[in-house]
Amino acid sequence: IVWPELELIRNDFPILKQTVNGKPLVYLDNGATTQKPVQVLRAMQDYYTGYNSNVHRGVHTLSQQATSAYEAARHQVAHYIGAHNHEVVFTKGTTDAINLVAAGFRKEFLHEGDEIIISAMEHHSNIVPWQLACEEKKAHLKVVPVNDNGELDMEAFASMLNPRVKLVSIAWISNTLGTINPVKDIITLAHEQGIPVLLDAAQAAGHLPLKVHELDVDFLALSGHKVYGPTGIGILYGKEEWLNKLPPYQGGGDMIKHVTFEKTTYAEPPLKFEAGTPAIAEAIGLGAALAYITQTGIHKIMAYEHQLTAYALEQLRTIDGLRLVGDAKERSGAISFLIGDTHPSDVGVLLDQQGIAVRTGHHCTQPLMDRFECPGTVRASLAFYNTTAEIDRLVEGVRKAVTLLG
Ligand code: PMP
Repeated sequence: IVWPELELIRNDFPILKQTVNGKPLVYLDNGATTQKPVQVLRAMQDYYTGYNSNVHRGVHTLSQQATSAYEAARHQVAHYIGAHNHEVVFTKGTTDAINLVAAGFRKEFLHEGDEIIISAMEHHSNIVPWQLACEEKKAHLKVVPVNDNGELDMEAFASMLNPRVKLVSIAWISNTLGTINPVKDIITLAHEQGIPVLLDAAQAAGHLPLKVHELDVDFLALSGHKVYGPTGIGILYGKEEWLNKLPPYQGGGDMIKHVTFEKTTYAEPPLKFEAGTPAIAEAIGLGAALAYITQTGIHKIMAYEHQLTAYALEQLRTIDGLRLVGDAKERSGAISFLIGDTHPSDVGVLLDQQGIAVRTGHHCTQPLMDRFECPGTVRASLAFYNTTAEIDRLVEGVRKAVTLLG
């Protein structure tokens, strides 16, 4: 698989050039978090060394610089996802973004007997907030089933839509199975019945193009740390009409227009949802990360990762007794597998001894593990800086682990 820029790209990620347990690191835990290029680290350092100051408050020069860098980061995000600046709310991450929407629905739009639709492949962060809301409001959480390949049962989904459904909240890509869900169809079907849709794009954001206006999605959540940016930052995209309708999330500074003890009026979105001093350096880092992806080219990234995933699947399938958990036609580079009756964490430890970082366990998708009747999986998740040689190391490592485990 040829990608001429790959060596240059890897140079931007110094962390990849180390040995772990005496072996060159093979980092295949990108589904959990991605590595950060020097461009991101530099942007954050420039803020702290050059113009560290609070945003939206000061008339002084540094504060104005910080404010324009923070707002430029918002513009970068908006540009990346094809939205308007004022539709981009900075959050702590995907979990925080989903909780923001769930808190708003719980307060204003969810009533007894209503329904929220999620799917069987959701991350806990797209289950628990809705469960809490439904419990409080005596509403019902409905779950779209997945088939044995780990694909959504779209017929079941269509039949679940009805006037009681207040929101559909679904992952674009499953962090455990790698399934890419047919989000366009989901949105079209839901909208035919006037139901809004939230997409959890945590696993999609750095791997395929996101164009929220084209998709006509109502809400979209993503995490900075999964798109080569820092932790502690993410975004909620909300259609303007929805952000106007949603009540504030947290109260505090920056989110107000005017405060008296009797009554507070709120700032316009997105500031209405950004109480307190935000994660300024992290927002700037996220902007730099998305600029890096844009410069590298999301279509090139997608094409390369697609080939690398196909290669990894082909090679892994040659291992005796290996079973893929999730084998969807449309899939990303998050690859879950089990080997015979070996325990995933034993395989993970043996891979780590060879310098290979994968994730083992339930991947915050326990109901999905119940569906596939396994306690967890071994998951290798790829990024565009991974190489075919690293896939070979993984396959060799798994073979070695299998031998050692008998
Ligand atoms: N949804 C999906 C599909 C994820 O993979 C993750 C992170 N593993 C999350 C939500 C939660 O993201 P965060 O922990 O960054 O809030």
